[in-house]
Amino acid sequence: RVPVPALLQRPADAIVRPQAAAHPKIPLPGDLFAPERRNSRGVEFGARAALDRLLTDVKAEAADLKPIADATPEQANAAVAVARAGFAAWSRTPAGTRAAALEQAAHLLESRAAHFIALLQREGGKTLDDALSELREAADFCRYYAAQGRKLFGADAAMPGPTGESNALGLRGRGVFVAISPWNFPLAIFLGQVTAALMAGNSVVAKPAEQTPRIAREAVVLLHEAGIPRSALHLVTGDGRIGAVLTAHQDIAGVVFTGSTEVARSINRTLAAKDGPIVPLIAETGGINAMIADATALPEQVADDVVTSAFRSAGQRCSALRLLFVQEDVADRMIEMIAGAARELRIGDPLEVATHIGPVIDAEAKQRLDAHITRMKSEARLHFAGSAPEGCFVAPHIFELRDAGQLTEEVFGPILHVVRYRAENLERVLQAIERTGYGLTLGVHSRIDDTIEGIIDRVQVGNIYVNRNMIGAVVGVQPFGGNGLSGTGPKAGGPHYLARFATEQTVTINT
Ligand code: GLU
Repeated sequence: RVPVPALLQRPADAIVRPQAAAHPKIPLPGDLFAPERRNSRGVEFGARAALDRLLTDVKAEAADLKPIADATPEQANAAVAVARAGFAAWSRTPAGTRAAALEQAAHLLESRAAHFIALLQREGGKTLDDALSELREAADFCRYYAAQGRKLFGADAAMPGPTGESNALGLRGRGVFVAISPWNFPLAIFLGQVTAALMAGNSVVAKPAEQTPRIAREAVVLLHEAGIPRSALHLVTGDGRIGAVLTAHQDIAGVVFTGSTEVARSINRTLAAKDGPIVPLIAETGGINAMIADATALPEQVADDVVTSAFRSAGQRCSALRLLFVQEDVADRMIEMIAGAARELRIGDPLEVATHIGPVIDAEAKQRLDAHITRMKSEARLHFAGSAPEGCFVAPHIFELRDAGQLTEEVFGPILHVVRYRAENLERVLQAIERTGYGLTLGVHSRIDDTIEGIIDRVQVGNIYVNRNMIGAVVGVQPFGGNGLSGTGPKAGGPHYLARFATEQTVTINT
């Protein structure tokens, strides 16, 4: 049986508490408000005390952020060569041993929580809430893929056959997998890709985003310490050019990529143009994610969920809400309530516990988002603009569009676009969502079952969230990934993920 991994970041107490109990070292965001208690010897216990201790430890961490040099093309090629040599031994290592290394990695991550949280905050600009959730997700990925791997790779599956013949189907590693990961989840997605590829018996060359190489390096050191052989896992730092060297290499057997649709396409072209074996690509890309709120939705809940979905993590999640469709009859009131909830958000130093929204990743991102805000100011109606401090910060904005078609690309920041619709035109809303070509996340707020079911049946969207927010998919609970321009599947944190990293082998023996 596959154990359900620890859950994370659900606001309801019922869900938060067992999680905190299972991993007392990492209190969860919801536990910020848990009452402080003492036991009979006067020693503090409870999540609040644990959080205070953790915060003290995080502050004491002098995260060393000296720049890491980019790899040269020669180093990238050498990494593939060594990984190729390391593949034979790693792929023959029993699945149970591979899984145990991942479980040890989860344990090490948790025991060094303060260190990784400090890194996530300082290199990735993450708020405390986001850093905690990400650490939890990273450990969940390690444990979940370990559990799945034991099941799938532990023994070949016996197949039926006539008397005198035995048939078995097994999953095997493919070879060298290149893992290219984004800066927005520099620990969780980095480790998710790498651990899945390793669990499936591949050796790995990992190329993290150029903005967050240090977190990646520390994660690799941790995996080596946890038992992954050095020959089976290599880190190659640098920007897209070094990624291109890796994907063009003749000796790679697969690529897993999370990032923009445009880069996924270019990787696909590179792979297709090569001679030799056909190399698969597992891509998880972006989305122009929508939410539909009709007149039966609870306005307070919509406001809360919209603000969480559009503005948390400074909107730098590929699951984030970009396009809100509100039924005309309730639109004025809903927009007012959403703006009211957005006004409460604190934007600023991610190291402050009270901060809801930290910086965007870099000056280039800020420039792009500012340019979009300027364009929207002339093309759309501004309902809300928050204020942000100097620096790489972008304040939440809410714009109303005349037509959903005005939003033509994924805007990766805290900018919400609202479109009104009339009840009889719900079909047009669904067509507009379809026309984006993406299919990652969709939110629905309605109390009418027929409406909800009708929408679910009609759209090709990977993750649909009904009457709640639409971010923060939990490993093993909400397998995550999209369709169309949003990616190839399979879903990360889901039961079908590992198999796509493997190749199948059928063995028939005439006995
Ligand atoms: N899995 C994350 C979520 O559900 C998003 C991952 C991403 O942004 O790439 O919010």
